[in-house]
Amino acid sequence: MTTGNGDAPAGQFVGFGCTACGNPAIEEGFVEDSGEYSQGFSRWIPGPLERGIFGGARRMGKPRRAIRAFRCQRCGHLELYAGEWL
Ligand SMILES: [Zn+2]
Repeated sequence: MTTGNGDAPAGQFVGFGCTACGNPAIEEGFVEDSGEYSQGFSRWIPGPLERGIFGGARRMGKPRRAIRAFRCQRCGHLELYAGEWL
């Protein structure tokens, strides 16, 4: 489990391989949120989804983490991580 050198596969080695196919070439990205009032990226909120009277998610006052999305360059599998607090 050490970082190989020399003939590294194409793509970024981020410390883990794809959990679906084992390929070590993973690229980092994020999940876009293109909603009208969005800042352009999706966030992770702890706790199960609760909906308010208008059907939207109740999220007032809840902490949020950035979502880091790592994509396998072979099979396209996405691995999501809740990153830093926002
Ligand atoms: Zn894969």
